[in-house]
Amino acid sequence: MARRRQIFEGKAKVLFEGPEPGTLVQYFKDDASAFKNMKTGTITGKGVLNNRISEYLMTRLGDVGVPTHFMRRLNMREQLVREVEIIPVEVVVRNISAGSLAKRFGVAEGTPLPRSIVEYCYKSNELDDPMVSEEHITAFGWATPQELDEIMSLALRVNDFLSGLFLGIGIRLVDFRLEFGRLWEDDQMRIVLADEISPDSCRLWDIKTNEKMDKDRFRRDLGKVEEAYQEVARRLGILPEGGPRDMKGPEVMQ
Ligand code: UDP
Repeated sequence: MARRRQIFEGKAKVLFEGPEPGTLVQYFKDDASAFKNMKTGTITGKGVLNNRISEYLMTRLGDVGVPTHFMRRLNMREQLVREVEIIPVEVVVRNISAGSLAKRFGVAEGTPLPRSIVEYCYKSNELDDPMVSEEHITAFGWATPQELDEIMSLALRVNDFLSGLFLGIGIRLVDFRLEFGRLWEDDQMRIVLADEISPDSCRLWDIKTNEKMDKDRFRRDLGKVEEAYQEVARRLGILPEGGPRDMKGPEVMQ
């Protein structure tokens, strides 16, 4: 098989040139990292599960009219997506205090927030993704005020929809991180949801036990990391055909 051109390698994913112009292939790795890469490791089967979980969530969001970059899943670890111009801002939506918000404001983890809070960080590894305000985003030209309005409204729609979806399977959506991109079709530009939505980028707690079912199990050495990702996929009804034992999938092709 012909070698594909690698466009980018991140911590958990590799991006390859797609089969047609304007498309990319997203390959999901088992690698995990946390605390600005200070902690790294492998979560066996994570790539296969996140590929499925993100496919499922992006498809469901597409069904309710949220535009996304997702086109289709190609195999166990890869999906075809539209090439977009990534807006260098991470959008975090929070429903319950956890992680860095709990630390910053001294609000005990698990405290419900009076309303959903949207936060922005500037995507920059050198600067450790500093938190920024709308003022910084528009002043530095990372997004226009109109684009930012659209991003905010899409983020809140995603939050409403996913909160309900997870609630239906006994999971509380505590917080999550989204990325957006610009997609050109003819001369028209649209803001679309990009990257992935998975237990790598969401905090998911079991409704009854408050047990963590996301990357915090890896970050905080809580054990049963693989099992947590599998359980999210199982509840969503999308465990790969071979079941939990069939998680390795094909190796990355360079
Ligand atoms: N998050 C992410 N990537 C990042 C930072 C945060 O996916 O680079 C997600 C994280 O998994 C959580 C939410 O965004 O669901 C809020 O993260 P927080 O700011 O609390 O940072 P953390 O405690 O993860 O360092």
